Order: sequence, then C-alpha cells, then structure tokens
Amino acid sequence: MLKLPIYMDYQATTPVDKRALDAMLPYFTDKFGNAASKSHEFGWYAEKAVEMYRGKIAELIGCKTQEIVITSGATESNNLAVKGIAELFSNVKKKIITAPTEHKSVLDSCSALAKKGFEIYLLKVDKFGLIDLNELRDAIDGNTALVSIMTVNNEIGTIQPVEDIGRICKEKEVLFHTDATQAVGKLPVNVQQMNIDLMSFTAHKMYGPKGVGALYVKSKDPKVKLNPQIDGGGHENGFRSGTLNIPGIVGFGKACEIAANEMSVENEKIKKLGERFYQGLSSQLDDFFINGHPEKRFPGNLNICFKHADSGTLMMSMKEIAVSSGSACSSAAVEPSHVLKAIGLKDDELRSSIRFGIGRFSTEEEIDFAVNKVTESVKKIRSVFKQVLQH
Ligand code: PMP
Repeated sequence: MLKLPIYMDYQATTPVDKRALDAMLPYFTDKFGNAASKSHEFGWYAEKAVEMYRGKIAELIGCKTQEIVITSGATESNNLAVKGIAELFSNVKKKIITAPTEHKSVLDSCSALAKKGFEIYLLKVDKFGLIDLNELRDAIDGNTALVSIMTVNNEIGTIQPVEDIGRICKEKEVLFHTDATQAVGKLPVNVQQMNIDLMSFTAHKMYGPKGVGALYVKSKDPKVKLNPQIDGGGHENGFRSGTLNIPGIVGFGKACEIAANEMSVENEKIKKLGERFYQGLSSQLDDFFINGHPEKRFPGNLNICFKHADSGTLMMSMKEIAVSSGSACSSAAVEPSHVLKAIGLKDDELRSSIRFGIGRFSTEEEIDFAVNKVTESVKKIRSVFKQVLQH
C-alpha cells in the first residue's frame, strides 16, 4: 500500500536507518557515559564505543581512525576547515579559492574571512556546474592558503573532478578541502586516491542521525594543522572541544558500515528508479530539462526545470510529494537558488525548477505515483498560464 506523502527530498535529509537507531539506543540509557571520563567504567565503555564507530567512519573514506574529527555536522566541518586553515595561514597566505555553487556554509565562511582581509577567488562554473581545471591551475599562486570545492552539489547533483582538483593542489602544494556531504555514503569516496587533505561530511544525509558529522584532517604528507573554532577541554586532539555525542557517533558509524556494505546495490536501484522517473515524465510531458550535468551526476538527484510552471504553485498542487525548490539548507528564506543562478538559468527557469530526491527507501510504486502527479500538476498549471496569456 502506497503511503502518502511520498518523500522525495533525500538531499535535504534522510530517515535514520533502523539498524543505526538500534545501535544507538543503549547509548542514551545504560551506556550513557562521557568518553572523557577516564576514572570509571562508564567512561571507558563510551570511549571504546567512540573508537570502534570512529573506525567505521574512517574505513568508509579510506583514512586512519585518528584522522576523523567529530563535529556537529557538515556546516561546522566546513566552518572549521575554511576558517581554521585561513586563520592558521593568515600571516603568510591570504587567498582562498572556491566556487559560486558551494554550500552556504563554505560561501558564508569565505565572506566572513573577506571582511577580515582575505581574498576570495570564485572560479567560474559552466552550465552544468563544473569548474575549469585550467582556471584553477592559473588561480593558485603563492598567496593561496586553501582550495575548497565540493564533491557532489546538493542542489543539482553535479560531480566535480575531485581527484584532478586534488592532484593540481598537490602539485602546487596548496591544501585541498572538499565538502563531500552529498557524496559520502552514496558514492565511493577514498581520500587517499582523491588527493584530499580535508573533507566535510555529515550523518543525516546518509541514514544516520542529525547533529553529528565529521571533518577528515590528513595527518601525514602533509600533516594538516588548523585553528580550532570551538575552544574548551581540548577534545578531538584539540581540533574541536566539547563532550562527544556518543549515540550520534554510534549511529553515524553504523550508517557508514551499512553504506560500505550496500552502496553498490543501492546505487543500481537508485539509478534505475531515477531513469524510471525521467522516462515516465518524458513519455507524458515536454518542455522540461534536468539542471546539472547529464552524466557526471549523482543519479538520486533530479533537479528539473518545467518551463511555464512556477515551482511554488507546482509544489502547492502536489502536496502528496515532498520535494524542494532552491535548498532547504538556506533556512526559511525562499530565495532563488544561488546554484541555479550560477549555472546561468534565466529568471523564469529559476522559478520553475524543482529538486526530486531518490534514496534508500524509494520504491517503483512511489516513482510511478510521482510521475502521474507531477504530469497532471504541470499540465494544469500550464493550461492556466496559457489562458492568462490569451486574455
Ligand atoms: N554541505 C552540503 C553540500 C549540504 O548539502 C549540507 C546540508 N544541506 C551541508 C553542507 C550542511 O550539513 P549539516 O546539515 O550537517 O550542517
């Protein structure tokens, strides 16, 4: 039986996998200890759990356990990486290279640094949201402290050539940070192979709990240092103070273990459902296109522009489907997406784009329902639009 409303907003967040929840539950009650309590069993249990589940997080991205710094999520990880590196280098290097399609937590961190005298160089992106590697190579100079380019875009799903970006940064001896929030747990990510020095990600986009994330910080060749953004008891090797969220870390680690085991099968399923959705729409509708790269993309993210169909009106007329226009990450303000603007969408296209997310719990039945509902709603809105034009 189809349960309404249908969730198609997997880029905003994901439900916690029951297996991750089961792993977490004892750590709220029986095993409630503080991992920093070194003098008794409660603390030892907590510390043991942290190290075991931190290990699973590390394993998923191919790094050492001690290279994982636990944070409250990717927003904090991005702030820590960008500001932490900039502040450390502030007396010698004052340039940061990024792109206009980054998440606001990177862009706003950069804006804060610009006010303190840093130069923020925004690379151009093409109509698919891809940066130009030659421009990157030319932009890196002796004043550059950091390059920060995301792995998968949260709004349009475009995958950047991270391995190549990392190689260029390595050649030029500049640190490379990537916000891989929409990639980790969904696509294979290996920090060694991809030449990454710092990487942000978060549990709640990969079927783990909200409020816990990580920053990978390379410990050798080079050993990356950064200025902490939260001072206190010196937890997390001094990178991030604060009592650890043990249930959150356990859920995050379990979610990583599940992702590692099931990613390839899950991706096949998501790809097929994405194709089914697109083909279904194509067989009944015209005048629409996918925003982002046609191939270099995460297949569970379909950001579609339906011409002559206002996205606000469209979403209102299909309340049975939970989708998003713009990005849920930008709090309450419904502003046209900075990502869609950056890839050159015209005003009317900006206002007619909707992101459909497909994930672990999506089904064929849901996709078929969504195809019919979207088709019916778009046709209705377009016919009203036509009538208005005729008057
Ligand atoms: N970066 C990207 C690419 C994201 O999609 C998000 C979540 N919308 C974030 C960062 C912020 O993550 P968190 O919600 O864990 O702070």
